[in-house]
Amino acid sequence: MPVANSLVVVGAGQAAAQLVASLSQDGYAGEVTLIGDEPHLPYQRPPLSKKVLTGELTPDRLSVKPAAFYDKIGTRLRLDARVERIDRATKEVTLSDGSRIGFTTLVLATGSRARTLPLQGTGRTATFVLRSIADVAALRAQFAPGKALVVIGGGYIGLELAAVAVKQELEVTVLEQAPRVMARGVGPVVSRFYERLHHEEGVRLCMGSVVHGVEDGCVVCAGSEHRADLVLIGAGAVPNAELARESGLATENGIVVDAECRTSDPVIYAIGDCATQHHPLVGRRLRLESVHNALEQARIASASICGKPAPAAQVPWFWSDQYDVKLQMAGLSDGYDQAVVRGDPDRGRSFAVFYLRDGVLIAVDAVNRLPEFMMSKQLIAGRARIDPARLGDESIAVKDLKG
Ligand SMILES: Cc1cc2nc3c(=O)[nH]c(=O)nc-3n(C[C@H](O)[C@H](O)[C@H](O)COP(=O)(O)OP(=O)(O)OC[C@H]3O[C@@H](n4cnc5c(N)ncnc54)[C@H](O)[C@@H]3O)c2cc1C
Repeated sequence: MPVANSLVVVGAGQAAAQLVASLSQDGYAGEVTLIGDEPHLPYQRPPLSKKVLTGELTPDRLSVKPAAFYDKIGTRLRLDARVERIDRATKEVTLSDGSRIGFTTLVLATGSRARTLPLQGTGRTATFVLRSIADVAALRAQFAPGKALVVIGGGYIGLELAAVAVKQELEVTVLEQAPRVMARGVGPVVSRFYERLHHEEGVRLCMGSVVHGVEDGCVVCAGSEHRADLVLIGAGAVPNAELARESGLATENGIVVDAECRTSDPVIYAIGDCATQHHPLVGRRLRLESVHNALEQARIASASICGKPAPAAQVPWFWSDQYDVKLQMAGLSDGYDQAVVRGDPDRGRSFAVFYLRDGVLIAVDAVNRLPEFMMSKQLIAGRARIDPARLGDESIAVKDLKG
């Protein structure tokens, strides 16, 4: 039977760790239990395709908080334990070992998983995805100079992995079915820049490549074959929304939540990669896969659960590290009608692209341009109108662009 005020969090990732920290700060008075199916404390995933892959950082350094933190705030951890079922009538979750835990409030922070592809006959060629500590350990064990790596998908994770692998002297080919890389996240100017960057570093990029299958030692596309000792599938992520759907909650490419992160059941919340929410900046529902979104939704849900005012909405942002290039993106460029370039994307490795709609700055992609990124975050939040000619004029200092 549920005790008074007992909150259960399903999924022990980035969003869950922030949620329990925020609940403690917001003064939540009940019991909190955090259930995660990985054997680790909640950890940060971004370094997996960056410094963990290069070996500069070991996985034990990824924990969001040490174990003592959860003890201190009185959160019970159930790690290596999977929730198989939610019973909304009795307000209980059932774990894979058959045990049940009651709740008065439930938070789903189940994240997303790497999309796999129905590739026939993988044979002796090892196929990987990159989502977890276990995935990166398996992949790194196969890295060796001279091996042929084929990355299926030219998104952030695939390209970050390609950058690390080519530096470790693997022969790297990236197969992308779209006409340009990172097409879901950045504008065409930035895609072209990344294509040049990877080409300069020795990665072979093949656009418009539709993969048919993996056979012994090669990846077969319509009209081409690519030698492969190992294959990474970097084909995006799928929300872990099945648990919610099977319990009758509304789902649509994620668990549908309102502005307070409540699902269609008012005592059940969903946060992070698994949740889809109306976004005021674009006027439609979106499912964002970013650390910033996971943290922000965790703070919003905590405030709602504790009856506190919602924290002010922030401009979404994201980053990607490839070679010596840091890409920082803020805002959402959906529906932009003008793109202004500051700097030269065809030479060097530093420029920014500003996206405007009806003269209002709505997003930026900044390549090794921290000042432009920081300034744009403020301007986007303030829905600032800004003269495009000034934005593109490098003789005007970034700090003077606001005026
Ligand atoms: C390789 C990689 C690189 C990335 N790089 C960046 C980056 O540079 N910048 C950025 O902003 N974002 C990046 N991201 C995305 C970012 O890590 C995610 O958006 C973030 O982790 C989402 O947090 P979450 O808590 O929603 O999900 P997760 O961190 O995925 O945590 C969800 C947890 O729930 C567990 N779970 C699922 N179902 C159950 C169940 N039924 N029972 C128990 N546990 C369950 C999952 O196994 C997982 O441990 C990257 C992601 C990856 C994989």
